[in-house]
Amino acid sequence: MNDILVSFDNVTIDYVMKKQSLRAVRDFSLDIEKGKITAFVGESGSGKTTVVSALLQAISSPGKLTQGNVYFFDGDNKIDVSALKNEQLRKFRWSKVSMVFQASQSTLNPLMTIYDQFYETAYYHDAIASKEKFDERLNYLFDLVKLDAKRVFKAYPHQMSGGMKQRVMIAFALLLNPDLIILDEPTTALDVITQKYIFNQLTDINKNLGKTLILLTHDIGIVAKVADNIAVMYAGSVMEYADAYTLFKEKKHPYTRGLIEATPSILKSPEEIQPIEGNPPDIRNLPSGCPFHPRCKYCMDICTEQRPPLQKIGDEHYISCHLYANNTQKL
Ligand code: SF4
Repeated sequence: MNDILVSFDNVTIDYVMKKQSLRAVRDFSLDIEKGKITAFVGESGSGKTTVVSALLQAISSPGKLTQGNVYFFDGDNKIDVSALKNEQLRKFRWSKVSMVFQASQSTLNPLMTIYDQFYETAYYHDAIASKEKFDERLNYLFDLVKLDAKRVFKAYPHQMSGGMKQRVMIAFALLLNPDLIILDEPTTALDVITQKYIFNQLTDINKNLGKTLILLTHDIGIVAKVADNIAVMYAGSVMEYADAYTLFKEKKHPYTRGLIEATPSILKSPEEIQPIEGNPPDIRNLPSGCPFHPRCKYCMDICTEQRPPLQKIGDEHYISCHLYANNTQKL
């Protein structure tokens, strides 16, 4: 267990409302390896943000963890995250796990300087031993994300570019030195050069500081080079999980294959870029059987009737697809 930092154990999350209950995540089990970069990839509504929110008890209302557990391994201590209360939870957040939410740059307070916002956060987490030590830490973090501390400390959010603000958010996530950082769509709305720059910094943080990262993205292409492991999600379930090399080389699941074929590349002609037909499913009315079946060109009778289990088809390679029943590989 020493190489596992987080274990999602049969997690189900429902949005419980007066008239109906919507299942956003279903029977989700996955171990996150310590010191690795794991990407959760899927279209909007695939459940990737919802499931990692359970790791911080931050599922947006009226969502609830209705089954399963999320465990965090802190040395020999196995923490059941859903059992954390008040002060325990406050300490766990940021100091063990921090999250940079999607478009979180816009959560920067427009009326405070960047320095004051860091100071306030550290103050409320009792993380300031002295102003000198705090300044030293902040200079170190800004150096790490390659921002000019002298200039940015005094700046207000509107005085910075989108790429600078995103690097400020990464420095924020590192402020209390957590073991795990979750980044939700970390490069959305940034140009490709800034995207590359941010991913280089995230890779450095992973390799040089040993931080475990979880990246959430709809774009499988942008995590191809940085992720160690990839979980492809659809309709709240894992469709395929493998190390990045295996996933891209074998692309067994029809949905994984569709995501890769839809990704633009300078090596592809426009005709080779094939979008996945149809739309992501509506969780108010999920298809029977395999949730991907209305969009799948390999759909068989069984696919409309029975949901395929997640099964192991290779060394740490898992897939949920009837094409691989009894581990016979078809694609
Ligand atoms: Fe396609 Fe059937 Fe596999 Fe689902 S189970 S991905 S419908 S082949």
